Amino acid sequence: MEIHSVQPSHPGQATTFTGLVWRTPIHEGSAPGFLSLNLIHFTPESRTAWHTHDFGQTLVVVEGEGVVQVRGARAHWLGAGDVVAASPGEEHWHGADGEHFMVHYSLVEGHPDRPAVQWGTHVSDGEYQAALEQLGES
Ligand code: MN
Repeated sequence: MEIHSVQPSHPGQATTFTGLVWRTPIHEGSAPGFLSLNLIHFTPESRTAWHTHDFGQTLVVVEGEGVVQVRGARAHWLGAGDVVAASPGEEHWHGADGEHFMVHYSLVEGHPDRPAVQWGTHVSDGEYQAALEQLGES
């Protein structure tokens, strides 16, 4: 058994996020399961770049209002209590909406030395605005 305190938070890298995003490592998985848990704070208009997870990802929204979108599909609004299960290899992005913070837990599998996230291009302002407009229509 291992008991430790929550680790210090770190700003998300500009190569993989747009806007101000902070990541708080809760637990870094070890063998054999390598299940890792992070808490992510998105400021308004901030979001991940497009990406995939080799072993999938589960998000649990704990606060605020946000957006998730799979490549080629309509964007979905996210609020507290929503759970998102991204399949392995499913290209997507997630982030806050234009006016609110969004906070979610992120559970991912994968060896810490071989990050199981494949990062793509940033979500452009045009893609982001289009996603917000879809939310308004739904
Ligand atoms: Mn993801």
